[in-house]
Amino acid sequence: MSLLEIENLRVRAEAREIIRGISLSLEAGQVHIIMGQNGSGKSTLLLALAGSPRYEVAGKASFEGKNLLSLKPHERARAGILLAFQQPVEVPGVRMADFLRRAYCARFGKEIPVLEFESLLQRKMDELGIEREFAMRGLNEGFSGGEKKKSEMLQLSLLKPKLALLDELDSGLDVDAAPKVAEMVERARQDGASAIVVTHYTKILRGLRPDRVHVMKDGRIILSGDARLAQKLEREGFGWAYRSVG
Ligand code: ADP
Ligand code: MG
Repeated sequence: MSLLEIENLRVRAEAREIIRGISLSLEAGQVHIIMGQNGSGKSTLLLALAGSPRYEVAGKASFEGKNLLSLKPHERARAGILLAFQQPVEVPGVRMADFLRRAYCARFGKEIPVLEFESLLQRKMDELGIEREFAMRGLNEGFSGGEKKKSEMLQLSLLKPKLALLDELDSGLDVDAAPKVAEMVERARQDGASAIVVTHYTKILRGLRPDRVHVMKDGRIILSGDARLAQKLEREGFGWAYRSVG
């Protein structure tokens, strides 16, 4: 049984079909990469898998053999699906630490006393080399690319997802991002996570050892392959894939 099985998934928003029939199957422990130009539907696919209420979803998706589409967003988090919070939504009144504690309770379905959580958080931050002040910051408030990366790393390490959905939306703009993404994904994999990493920068592929690579265009997967496809895309850019598939 695959960890995630998607069959002919269709996603609509505001009467427009954004994802137009996607199928893919991801085994536990695998890392898949989804590439494609801006607007091809990559973020929408991840948001739909995480259960964002903004979208209308048809087709099939199962997670550990259970129907994913019937689960509410918090039930998906509880099942072990994490859409790392990386969108630049600033929530000044909410400290990073409080957000993480809530996410932790949602993931494991139990309350954790504040002090106990703070010491767990501290330990994780020390392990990751993140300075203590970071947890006191407002959620995403003025976060740089590097700080979003830290936030993502912390979420992965605290919440131990079975499936991490990582949208490398803008962190690719950061020259140093590629090795950090690779390191983060490998660390999560060692912790038992599978991952779908979405990007439109071939640079991100450097150092990642994906099991599958998919190229999206206009809401569909137009090409899939193994790590050799990643190498080819890195050398030639994914414009090549668009041209060769037409
Ligand atoms: P990508 O992440 O590949 O750049 P997106 O998934 O963000 O692409 O967007 C794909 C297309 O769907 C874009 O044209 C975008 O404007 C549209 N879209 C995404 N979300 C919504 C929404 N909630 N309502 C309307 N249109 C949307
Ligand atoms: Mg996107």
